[in-house]
Amino acid sequence: MIRVRFAPSPTGALHIGGAHTALFNYLFAKRLGGKFILRIEDTDTERSSKEFEENILESLKWLGIEWDEGPYYQSKRLDLYREKANELLKKGIAYECFCTPEELKERREMMVKMGRPPRYDGRCRDLDEDQKRSLREKGLKSVLRIKIPDGKSFLRDAVKGEVSFSNESLGGDMVIMKSDGYPTYNFAVVVDDIDMEITHVIRGDDHLTNTFKQMIIYKAFGKELPQFAHIPLLLGPDKAKLSKRHGAASVLEYRQMGYLSDALFNFLSLLGWTPKEGQDIFSRDELISMFCLAKLNSNPAVFDIKRLEWMNSQYIKNMDDSKLFDLAKPFYDKEGIKVLKDNFTLRAINLGKARAKTLQDLVSGTKYFFVEPELSFEEVKAIKLNNSTLFLLEKFLVLLDNDECNSHIELEKKSREMVASYNQAFKDLVNPLRLIITGMKVGPGLFEIVCALGKDIVKRRVLKFINES
Ligand code: GLU
Repeated sequence: MIRVRFAPSPTGALHIGGAHTALFNYLFAKRLGGKFILRIEDTDTERSSKEFEENILESLKWLGIEWDEGPYYQSKRLDLYREKANELLKKGIAYECFCTPEELKERREMMVKMGRPPRYDGRCRDLDEDQKRSLREKGLKSVLRIKIPDGKSFLRDAVKGEVSFSNESLGGDMVIMKSDGYPTYNFAVVVDDIDMEITHVIRGDDHLTNTFKQMIIYKAFGKELPQFAHIPLLLGPDKAKLSKRHGAASVLEYRQMGYLSDALFNFLSLLGWTPKEGQDIFSRDELISMFCLAKLNSNPAVFDIKRLEWMNSQYIKNMDDSKLFDLAKPFYDKEGIKVLKDNFTLRAINLGKARAKTLQDLVSGTKYFFVEPELSFEEVKAIKLNNSTLFLLEKFLVLLDNDECNSHIELEKKSREMVASYNQAFKDLVNPLRLIITGMKVGPGLFEIVCALGKDIVKRRVLKFINES
């Protein structure tokens, strides 16, 4: 039975990188009928918060990454870590270390001065019972360290292939339990991954060094390694690790900007993975059915916001109007625009969706359906200075009176003929008309707008314009 886990630390909102990791775990589990386990790694009590935890859960739910088990909380499993640490202590693989942080710092600095990589020198490895007792009596607190054997470790990674690492560069015997009785990250992860019977550990490439540390803990427990898969890191356009600096926001911020869950899901899946050359849009089911760890690219992937925008626009454009209304409704509400799910609104959405990159765009691009546009003084003046425009607008109103607005193509044809019959330029009608009825200089086809708005609204806006000032 395949069992994977996503193990976020609730020390911040769920960002794009975390969502990417969660998604690959999810796709992998779904592909193979396995289980996706959610584990909250909240042992850093100072930096963890309930608010971030809720943000993570909500982000995953919104993205449609459902977990089969959990969330488990590391903060509720402290007894297990202590019990497991004691096991290693009894076996003699772990030992108590009484070195103070100040001493450790001093020694590290000394090593650096001597041109050596800083590492724990193993000083407390062989303390006997009397020495330990006397240190304890002095009031010194201890941590537990695990012995790191010399030599090289080898890993067969599902994405990176064969990787090796020299144990000497792991920083010396590693702390597994801190003096406050809390486990370190690497220890808690391994205890949990063993206890939760995780078969595949799929996580960011930046965890590779941790993996080599964790392999030593697996060995200490005499357990087999899970299959590790280090997935590509996400970079910004400048090739530096993706961060807020690049404008990459948290998952919920993307939701707030009007990105669709389906689009973000699709977009993230293609970072570091090409399911099929020449195709960009995939449904969730397609992605699940095609997912394969061995096909992932081990090179970092560049996060390109323009591609996400494009993908989002494709999802918006191809979505059914009524469904799009449901998604856009909160965005109209936010702008204080009252909308009902009626034919008028659905026409607005149908017209606006071809040009919207986000739901927010859709709302701004269709606002004129619900709110009278306001032209600036300069805009009004410029239109009114053109005598032929005023003339053509009046003629257009007459034409509109005699048209049912059933076909925008017909209406456009008639309008062109009308303008031509007076030897005038078509732009002298359409440019001002667009501005008057939409408040915008560009947008969908003008006659489509006229028919979608309906002739009453168009007439009212044009008359108001002509009669004002
Ligand atoms: N809590 C770790 C993190 O947020 C989990 C890493 C792992 O998957 O082991 O980075």
